[in-house]
Amino acid sequence: MISDLLRKSEAYKEFSAAAASGKASHAYLVIGDDTVTRKAYMILLAATFLCKRGGLYECETCNRITAGSHPDVHIYNSDGKMRVEDTNTLISEASMRSWADGAKLFFIDRAESLSPAVQNKLLKLVEEPEGDAVIIFFASSEVPILPTVKSRTKKCYLPLFAPDEIFAELCSDGVPRAQAEIAAALSGGSFERAYKLGGDEDYVRLYEGVFAMLVGCRKSQDIAKYLGSELFTKENIGLTLDFTEIILKDALIRASGSGAKLTTRNRDYDLDEIASGTSAGALAMAILAVNKARKMLSANVGAVTVAETMLFDILEAKYKWR
Ligand SMILES: [Zn+2]
Repeated sequence: MISDLLRKSEAYKEFSAAAASGKASHAYLVIGDDTVTRKAYMILLAATFLCKRGGLYECETCNRITAGSHPDVHIYNSDGKMRVEDTNTLISEASMRSWADGAKLFFIDRAESLSPAVQNKLLKLVEEPEGDAVIIFFASSEVPILPTVKSRTKKCYLPLFAPDEIFAELCSDGVPRAQAEIAAALSGGSFERAYKLGGDEDYVRLYEGVFAMLVGCRKSQDIAKYLGSELFTKENIGLTLDFTEIILKDALIRASGSGAKLTTRNRDYDLDEIASGTSAGALAMAILAVNKARKMLSANVGAVTVAETMLFDILEAKYKWR
């Protein structure tokens, strides 16, 4: 479960230690844009504050929290449309006694979307805490948060996860292994992104296509057959570049013998094929070629031209740095 992974994270350990010793802050700002993890984290934080049995999701209090029906847990702004009227409701709820005679929690989701007027209304609660009210903002970025709010909240980060952890979680959720492998590799540590990618078989085909291309494209005459393929359509090229970079980085790890952790899974044979007859230097240059391709794309150069340039650059690097 994501909650088990969250419990192991440094961010959470710090938080729960503070809560256990009665030193929790009354206002937090949690930064992170993974909405799946964000939701799981809210539930875990609520259990940490309110459950008297370690927040293990085994008691009535925890059941209510996970079911979204605990009267001391309030989630605002799930739709990103919080208005000044809503803050009045929140402030009056905060002034009331807690139901279970403990903390009263106010989660403000999507805080990056809050207008300055709403933030200013909430500032009062952040500045002068009301009884046992704890206010926890979740924002994808701290940039839109007013400095006055920021300076009075304790900032922390939503945990990110390793590809291995995401892979295991997706598999146990029934995502087919091949899809889970790609989703985990491309997730960047975000469950939201992993679930999106894990739900789509097209990604598997594209990923396999990129492996086949990097293994099979050996000389400049080979390039043409890849240019017209689905790898380099306008829709797919962005993802193809992401896959290419991930695979080249792993091939570089294998070639350099650094022993660093690979992002791909069980592809050592293919990675060694890609690295064969070339050098770590050439693979490093090839990765730069992918970045150059991204820049060309964002400068509106056509997909086929970008692809052709990148593949030539990769072959040239291999030739020069044998
Ligand atoms: Zn519990």
